[in-house]
Amino acid sequence: MAIRDILTVPDPRLKEVSRPVEGGVSDDIRALMDDMLETMYAAPGIGLAAIQVGEPLRVIVMDLSGEGEPRAPRYFVNPEILETIEETAPYEEGCLSVPDVFDEIDRPARCKIRYLDYDGNLVEEWAEGLYAVCIQHEMDHLEGTLFIDYLSRLKRQRAVDKVRKAQRQKGREQAA
Ligand code: ZN
Repeated sequence: MAIRDILTVPDPRLKEVSRPVEGGVSDDIRALMDDMLETMYAAPGIGLAAIQVGEPLRVIVMDLSGEGEPRAPRYFVNPEILETIEETAPYEEGCLSVPDVFDEIDRPARCKIRYLDYDGNLVEEWAEGLYAVCIQHEMDHLEGTLFIDYLSRLKRQRAVDKVRKAQRQKGREQAA
């Protein structure tokens, strides 16, 4: 397993549409998911899409366990949203590709999803609460959409500027 670099805005790769994994869940895909999970835990974050480590594949990892609880990794290959309910719920979202920016986003409160798990089994289930928020946020990444894309232009630009500035600062510290 290895920790990968996480892309941050305005990296154009984050706008790419990811392609489906062909031929089921191979050892290569499992190795990618292992790397993604380790990268996500190190960040730390609760969800990560493959494009965030530069791989344009429809692969997501997630762990929604609380602090002090045992780890509960979840893996999603080729996930699809089959159904959503009309009712929405707000949640203050953040993203490892937009570090230190948080804003409230409304999304459907429940969604039915279908995906292949780590072992290649087809799973169909309803997601609600934080699970529903996180899977919809991560699936947006597969379409090249970031949560800041739902904000006003001004707020979005401010978010990107903030990340850029922080990255420049980090670069200077590393060079010094
Ligand atoms: Zn994200």
